[in-house]
Amino acid sequence: MINPRDVISYLEMCAQEGTSLQRGMNFHLRGMFSVILMSLRPNAPYADRVEDNGSTLIYEGHDVSKTNDTPIPKIIDQPMYNPGGSLTQNGLFYKAAKNYAERKKHPELIRVYEKLHTGIWVYNGTFKLVDAWQEQRDNRKVFKFKLELSEESKPKRHNTQSIVPEHDRMIPPNIKLEVWKRDKGKCVICGSIKNLHFDHIIPFSKGGTSLLAKNIQILCAKHNISKRDNIE
Ligand SMILES: [Zn+2]
Repeated sequence: MINPRDVISYLEMCAQEGTSLQRGMNFHLRGMFSVILMSLRPNAPYADRVEDNGSTLIYEGHDVSKTNDTPIPKIIDQPMYNPGGSLTQNGLFYKAAKNYAERKKHPELIRVYEKLHTGIWVYNGTFKLVDAWQEQRDNRKVFKFKLELSEESKPKRHNTQSIVPEHDRMIPPNIKLEVWKRDKGKCVICGSIKNLHFDHIIPFSKGGTSLLAKNIQILCAKHNISKRDNIE
């Protein structure tokens, strides 16, 4: 079981989803949740971004595969359909967003993982797919998907049904990276490099912010739980 803001390896991420994740967009993975992998690192291939203080994610669609016919995918419109006429991953997510926008369906639920470093990922939580559109970028059409953090991403307390409000924001990627480097990828209390988690020093519910690295630290699972118990 993983929680939002947990730091996991690539293999742990694949184990969590029960499959080897080979691509960024995975509509109805194993028939259930959809799964999206994102990266906001400076050399990331797609222009994903976080808005509204971390509760909204704008995710860019994906390019055609690089083949002999399409040697430079970045100059070609992102495709809605495969050559055989079936929907691409862009098309599948786009149709789901439009169905939701027209109130025909419940929103698609998407589990979002973010790449922090090679082999190191952060689970950002479950998001609702609420909108999609195509826009013109550098003389070609790209897809954009709007995802909002879902209630289900806010974990319950141990004994009650109430919700821990400090979980209701994503930490922006640049802040995660700054904290990861500052804390050297280790729990700041015991130096453990296993079962790590991005922790708000002052909880969101008590006015702490997600937007400043000085309010975020890395804790292992043991110290994260003991801190939470002290607060409660
Ligand atoms: Zn620790």
